[in-house]
Amino acid sequence: CFEGIAMAPPDPILGVSEAFRADTDAKKLNLGVGAYRTEELQPYVLDVVNKVSKLYLSNWYIAERLMLERSENKEYLPIEGLAAFNKVTAELLFGADNPVINQQRVATVQGLSGTGSLRLAAALIERYFPGAQVMISSPTWGNHKNIFNDARVPWSEYRYYDPKTVGLDFEGMISDIKAAPDGSFIVLHGCAHNPTGIDPTPEQWEKIADVIQEKNHIPFFDVAYQGFASGSLDEDASSVRLFAARGMELLVAQSYSKNLGLYAERIGAINVVCSSADAAARVKSQLKRIARPMYSNPPVHGARIVANVVGDPALFNEWKAEMEMMAGRIKNVRQKLFDSLSAKDKSGKDWSFILKQIGMFSFTGLNKTQSDNMTNKWHVYMTKDGRISLAGLSLAKCEYLADAIMDSYHN
Ligand code: PMP
Repeated sequence: CFEGIAMAPPDPILGVSEAFRADTDAKKLNLGVGAYRTEELQPYVLDVVNKVSKLYLSNWYIAERLMLERSENKEYLPIEGLAAFNKVTAELLFGADNPVINQQRVATVQGLSGTGSLRLAAALIERYFPGAQVMISSPTWGNHKNIFNDARVPWSEYRYYDPKTVGLDFEGMISDIKAAPDGSFIVLHGCAHNPTGIDPTPEQWEKIADVIQEKNHIPFFDVAYQGFASGSLDEDASSVRLFAARGMELLVAQSYSKNLGLYAERIGAINVVCSSADAAARVKSQLKRIARPMYSNPPVHGARIVANVVGDPALFNEWKAEMEMMAGRIKNVRQKLFDSLSAKDKSGKDWSFILKQIGMFSFTGLNKTQSDNMTNKWHVYMTKDGRISLAGLSLAKCEYLADAIMDSYHN
């Protein structure tokens, strides 16, 4: 009976890593997946995570005793996740003194990282807003489409990227959001837009909020890079806070994959800001009802790491310093790549758009044929939309990458 099942295509992002692993050339470079690497291009476990995890891993006896002392066993978490995690994650996002927190207007449920949290919200939309339109940016992180498709939520795109300027098509974005049916869900990247690295300015965010409010749309933020884009947790949350300060209802999916390097722990949350504490309690009850038949309850390890790091002032400060370090390394690589491209390119092309982009990605403007050349000739693995992960690049490899880009771009 399974004979009729066709082979699924490889994932456009994770499939790049599979192809990279199969390449035996020593010069190969994986700029596909968005995962932070050190200057030596090795995966990085944050010191704070090591410190917290060692409580569980270092010495079996000590670990067991500590767990008992802290009553941290391996029993099921509640459906909504670890209470200490849910508290700190919402506070980190909105700020601990935000009225939405004080008035208990946020329904926070631990999710399976950013993806799982988005999926819970998509299921909520499907169930309680039948037929509502979700608007996603063109382009966006590829998985957004899969998530809404699988949740059977109709979506369409609003203009975002302008290939002529390699910048934001702000007019197009505003007019498409205006044209959407009233009460649409508008998916917004809180910071460090993926894949373009192009974010609205604070003034533009205000205008976006104006239009969303006029149209009774519901903002739906995807925050996968808080603290990782600028190095500051508060700055990277400013878009979300600007909307919350207007008293709007909104959704926010959070991920700790990048900022705390907890990729495989699958730790994140969905936050729904409601207009009353009562509505938030009801929304939370429904999110739990959606989660229960999907996966019953979330994993505990990552939730404890986040709660312990954020809950301990010394560790929290260390985390912030490590985030600044990671964001700083990416900025250095960005600058070096720009310098190398500008020095090599005799055509007069302006590469400064690279410096204007933020976060771990750069959208190079390379098309599919050019991206294929990067991979086939230069062993540089990247997504076919021209996106490269600067987190997978070292200063030492910038010259090589610039040569590859020059060759692909001009030939
Ligand atoms: N949203 C965006 C925009 C992302 O870039 C990512 C990570 N690539 C995610 C969500 C979610 O990732 P995860 O499920 O690992 O948290």
